[in-house]
Amino acid sequence: MSFDQAMGDGFLTTKLDALIKWGRYNSVWPMPMGLACCAIEMMAFAGPKYDAARFGSEVFRFSPRQSDVMIVSGWVTYKMSHAIRRIWDQMPDPKWCIAMGACASTGGMHRCYGVVQGVDNFLPVDAYISGCPPRPESVINALIKIQDKIKAEQSLSLDH
Ligand code: SF4
Repeated sequence: MSFDQAMGDGFLTTKLDALIKWGRYNSVWPMPMGLACCAIEMMAFAGPKYDAARFGSEVFRFSPRQSDVMIVSGWVTYKMSHAIRRIWDQMPDPKWCIAMGACASTGGMHRCYGVVQGVDNFLPVDAYISGCPPRPESVINALIKIQDKIKAEQSLSLDH
């Protein structure tokens, strides 16, 4: 009797699938897009006090090709939005985006012609963080939401 027969059909593929998923949601590496004052709190999130390593996200990458989640912190001018979009396009799939703070989420207090009124006008945002500025715990909360999205993704099962 084979191992798979003894343990039940699909035992190995199911366990392998769970292992891959576990590895993926515990290694979501951030691409820091610090544009204004919120970036200070984003940096605090990366510091030892908040211990982002618990979630496998302490490795801030400054290359889009090695990043999984873009954290946009601060207001975005129209001029800057093109550069951000280009960096986003250089990040490999699957990827996620966090709009950190009132300015990134809605333009905040910057109700003027030069500022994009929310990064969801040019990026697919997965998690919004309210506040001005939000605390680092809120970034952790957004990260956990993205981990939950990965956990809920369809399995990579080999039999279909
Ligand atoms: S939300 Fe507040 S702290 Fe964050 S970038 Fe805007 S003004 Fe600065």
